[in-house]
Amino acid sequence: MNRSAVWHPFTQHALEPPMKRIAATDGAYLIEEDGNRVLDGISSWWVITHGHRHPAIMQAIRTATEAFDQIIFAEYSHEPAERLAEGLIGRAPSGLKHVFYSDSGSTSVEVALKMALGCFHNLGDPRDRIVVMEASYHGDTIGTMSTGERGVFNAAYEPLLFGVDRVPFPETGREQQTLDAFETLCRSGRIAALVIEPLVLGAGGMKIYDAGVLAALREIAARHGCLFIADEVMTGWGRTGTLFACEQANISPDILCTSKGLTGGAVPLAATLCTSDIFDAHLSTDRRKTFFHSSSYTANPIACAAAVANLQIWHDETVIERIKNLQALHRQNLERFAGDGRFADIRQAGTIAALDLVVPAGGYLADVGPRLRRLFRERGFLIRPLGNVVYLMPPYCVTADELSRAYDAISEVASIVLARP
Ligand SMILES: *Cc1c(COP(=O)(O)O)cnc(C)c1O
Repeated sequence: MNRSAVWHPFTQHALEPPMKRIAATDGAYLIEEDGNRVLDGISSWWVITHGHRHPAIMQAIRTATEAFDQIIFAEYSHEPAERLAEGLIGRAPSGLKHVFYSDSGSTSVEVALKMALGCFHNLGDPRDRIVVMEASYHGDTIGTMSTGERGVFNAAYEPLLFGVDRVPFPETGREQQTLDAFETLCRSGRIAALVIEPLVLGAGGMKIYDAGVLAALREIAARHGCLFIADEVMTGWGRTGTLFACEQANISPDILCTSKGLTGGAVPLAATLCTSDIFDAHLSTDRRKTFFHSSSYTANPIACAAAVANLQIWHDETVIERIKNLQALHRQNLERFAGDGRFADIRQAGTIAALDLVVPAGGYLADVGPRLRRLFRERGFLIRPLGNVVYLMPPYCVTADELSRAYDAISEVASIVLARP
C-alpha cells in the first residue's frame, strides 16, 4: 500500500504506483526527472493555454517579485490588480464593469453565488434558488459541489449540500426541453441565478451544446430577472475558439467567472466579473450591505502581474490565429475516426476534441480510465480520460506533428483496450 506523505488530488493511492516527479516544463511538454519528455495533452488540467513557461509571463513574475509579495487588499490597492481589472473589463463581454479577485475556479464561483444571493438580499427580494444544468461541474467546495452533478465524488458530503434546481442537458434535437424547464422554474419568481458552463461541460464529460441554447437561456433569464452566471473557468482564454465562450452566443452574462487560463496557467488566480447593477446593490452607507468575502491571498500582485502579461500576449501575438489552426488540426485528425466503430460521439469545440470509447461499462469509475491513462503515459502522452471519454485539450503551442502523434496514440491504445476489455 502506498501511504504517500503527499496526498494527491483525485488519486486513489492504494491503486496507483508512487508518482514520478516532474523536473521541469517546456512548451507542450512535462519533463520527468529521468529526462523523459511527456506531451501535455490536457494542458495540466486545462490551465496552460499558450504553453508551459511562456517567456513573457515568466519575466513578468520575476519583475513583480522585485517590488511585491502579498499585500492586504482591503486597505490598499496596487497597479497589477488595477491594470488587470481594466484589461479584463476591456476584453470581457460588454456590461461587466467590476472585478472581484480570488484564488481558484471554485472560489470564483463561490463569489459569484454570494454576489447573486447578496444582491437580492440587499434589494429585499426573496429570490434564493439556484438553477444549474445536469452534468455540470463548478468546483469542489461545498457550495460549488452543491451546484454540480451529484455522484460518487460528493456522496459523502451529500447531507451538507444545499438543494438546487436542475434543467436537463440540451441534447441535440431536445434543446426545447431544457429551455421549457428553465422557463417553468423561472415562473416561480424564486430563482436568483442560473449558473452555467457555456458551450462545453468539462468535467461532466466534455459535453458540447449549441450556442443558440446559451443565447435562449440568457434571454429567458433576463426576462424573469434571474441573474445569468457564466462559469468560464474552463472555457475562457480561447479554449472554445474565442476568448470567452459567451462571445459565440453573442451574450453578456451578469456575472462571469474566470481562473484556469487567466495567468496562462503559470500561477493561481481567479476573477469574478459583474455588472454595475450587482455592484450597486452592495453599494450603501449601510455597512450590512457590504460584500462580505475575502481570501487571504486576494489579488496577489505577482499573480496579477502574470495575468497582465497574459493579456499582453493576447494583444501582441496572433493567439486567435493559433487557436483556429489548432481547431483545424483537430478537425482533420478526427476525420480518420469517422465511421470507426471503436468510438462514439466524436465532437469538438475549438481547441477541445473528445471521443467516447465504446466499452461495455462507461462512467468515471470504469476500470478503462486508469488503464488508458497508463497506456498513454507509456507512449509519452499525458492524456487522462474521464471514464471512457477520451479527450485532447493541448496547449496552443502544440505542433501539427505532435497532435497527429497524440491521435495515433489514441487509436493504438483504443485497440489494445478493446482487444482485451
Ligand atoms: C476546474 C473548474 C472549476 C474549479 O476550478 P478550481 O481552480 O479547480 O477550483 C470550476 N468550474 C469549471 C467549469 C471548471 O472546469
